Amino acid sequence: MHIREMMAEAEKTGNPSFSFEYFPPKTAQGVQNLYDRMERMHHFGPKFIDITWGAGGRIAELTCEMVVQAQTYLGLETCMHLTCTDMGEEKVDDALRKAYKAGCTNILALRGDPPREHEKWEATEGGFRYARDLVSHIRTKYHDHFDIGVAGYPEGCDDNKDEELLLEHLKEKVDMGATFIVTQMFYDVENFLRWVDKVRAKGIHIPILPGIMPIATYASFIRRANHMNCKIPDDWLAALEPVKNDDVAVREIGKTLVADMCRKILAHGIPHLHFYTMNLAQATRMVLEELDWMPSAHRPLKQPLPWKQSLGLG
Ligand code: FAD
Repeated sequence: MHIREMMAEAEKTGNPSFSFEYFPPKTAQGVQNLYDRMERMHHFGPKFIDITWGAGGRIAELTCEMVVQAQTYLGLETCMHLTCTDMGEEKVDDALRKAYKAGCTNILALRGDPPREHEKWEATEGGFRYARDLVSHIRTKYHDHFDIGVAGYPEGCDDNKDEELLLEHLKEKVDMGATFIVTQMFYDVENFLRWVDKVRAKGIHIPILPGIMPIATYASFIRRANHMNCKIPDDWLAALEPVKNDDVAVREIGKTLVADMCRKILAHGIPHLHFYTMNLAQATRMVLEELDWMPSAHRPLKQPLPWKQSLGLG
């Protein structure tokens, strides 16, 4: 099912939904553990999951392999991230073919970060320059088979802080055929809501899926926010800093802060939350519990895994 259809359904029914992002682990054991966790977390009720694209040979292969496994064997509606970094057209087409054959119908089309050893991003010879070129390529080759998402940056991106210019470039991606936007993580919800209004004023009306990063430990919270140049509101720091060495307290306070932020987003008419799980269940589960979104008698899980259903186990 296309993500835009899921979003239309959430809007029509007034039932908000959520999704989970995972990334390819470094070891074979890590991959197996993640499959088990993905299956367990499916019982939380996500509408879909997505797998990030690891630039470079082996990890790129692993993204494809995990998409096939999740979509085909685990029966999870899966969105594949795909970047143009280090990717000529042939490699892009190979990844798209694998996703298509697996029955995957959603791609998040990205330019990608520069490889670690390079400071600045450079186009690969015979490859694509911007995410918009990748969007256009996928549309031309696969018409409407794939729903295509693109990245949005409420607080600017690494190589561009100019909000107006970024909005221009976002509009170009939409004009090339993108049908949903997933945002970079943020904690400054007022700024996010202001940005959403600017996106709409720009004539962009496709669904916006806000990227939510739950808080697992104080150190990881600060590290990720700094890495993404993401503003931390003063009251968040004031609440978390005094308990920074107590992981349990950080998670308890963190879940309240993040859930409050989610409620403000939902109240603004955005019906879907996209969780950056970092391949872990606990912090995301705590936010869902705080929102009263975990399956329960009054919110029954409606999505048995298809392969379990076919065996009468769903
Ligand atoms: P683009 O939209 O192409 O923008 C890149 C830069 O080029 C920007 O500065 C933009 O302003 C500029 N630009 C765009 N169009 C033009 C134009 N016509 N003329 C001049 N300048 C232009 N990275 C990964 O490696 N793997 C992942 O799986 C991954 N997942 C992500 C998921 C999300 C939700 C987000 C927000 C980011 C993700 N990233 C991922 C990181 C992303 O690849 C980087 O942020 C990258 O630097 C920019 O990608 P983009 O798709 O936004 O690029």
